[in-house]
Amino acid sequence: MSNSNEISQNHDDITVVKTKRVACDGSGVALGHPRIWLDMGQDTKVRCKYCDRVFVLDESAVEAGH
Ligand SMILES: [Zn+2]
Repeated sequence: MSNSNEISQNHDDITVVKTKRVACDGSGVALGHPRIWLDMGQDTKVRCKYCDRVFVLDESAVEAGH
């Protein structure tokens, strides 16, 4: 029985953004939620606690080695 292929990498709703600070109001989901700001801090991604949307930093948009 080969039932070990339970990869859920496409489960989350991922949004690529160009800044570490993003606003989310749940637009795109059924009810939405109050607009909040999410800050990635030292990380390069953050999850909205309301709608579970994941925002990922587009690292190519960040000036590297400047
Ligand atoms: Zn949200």
